[in-house]
Amino acid sequence: DKKIRLDKILSNLGYGSRKDIKKMVKSGLVKVDGEVVKDSSYKLNPYKAVIEIGDTVVEYREFVYLMMNKPKGVVSSTDDPLSRTVIDLIDEKYRVFNPFPVGRLDKDTEGLLIISNDGKLAHNLLSPKKHVEKKYYVEVEGYVTDDDKKIFAEGVVIDGGYKTMPAYLEIIETDNISRVYLTIKEGKFHQVKKMFKAVNKRVVYLKRVSMGRLDLDESLLPGEYRELTEEEILLLK
Ligand code: URA
Repeated sequence: DKKIRLDKILSNLGYGSRKDIKKMVKSGLVKVDGEVVKDSSYKLNPYKAVIEIGDTVVEYREFVYLMMNKPKGVVSSTDDPLSRTVIDLIDEKYRVFNPFPVGRLDKDTEGLLIISNDGKLAHNLLSPKKHVEKKYYVEVEGYVTDDDKKIFAEGVVIDGGYKTMPAYLEIIETDNISRVYLTIKEGKFHQVKKMFKAVNKRVVYLKRVSMGRLDLDESLLPGEYRELTEEEILLLK
């Protein structure tokens, strides 16, 4: 049960500065669950309590949708005993919604991560049956060839004998370090790294650039995030 201060909730929703809000609350204009609250430091869960200003009910929205360019060095889970998480990187005004990363990226992987509290949307994107495409920009040690392309298109056997679904490899540049895009329709643990390992190559840099029809906003630096637009949310549904 995440409780936050009344003044913070109202300022997050755009009802003025903490000082303005303190005045407004003190004047007796604000009710929480039907009772006038005059102390703006009063803590409540805005997700559960009903806040009224005069006779207007304050709309606390149900869902939050963020796009992050995940940086290296943080884990994509909600809490971790040792490492910083992607949730630690977001502002408290979003954390009150209890959002979680929709899908995982490895600690050393960068790029598109959706962070939301919409369980249904998460299910739609992550369910193995839905085959949502994930596209990665990959830098690989060694020369990536058309043979690799063919092997990936046919499916490659990774650990335990699992054969991957057809994946699309697009070679940008092949050299000592090759640069490619790889699009996969599933999300096995360490899948991209294991696929390259299966063809004797090592991934040295990995970044997710799209998920379904949603592309990473390339103006976001690693560690930066923003809310999804209405249109972007629809792309994911
Ligand atoms: N595949 C990987 O190997 N790692 C990721 O983070 C994502 C896909």
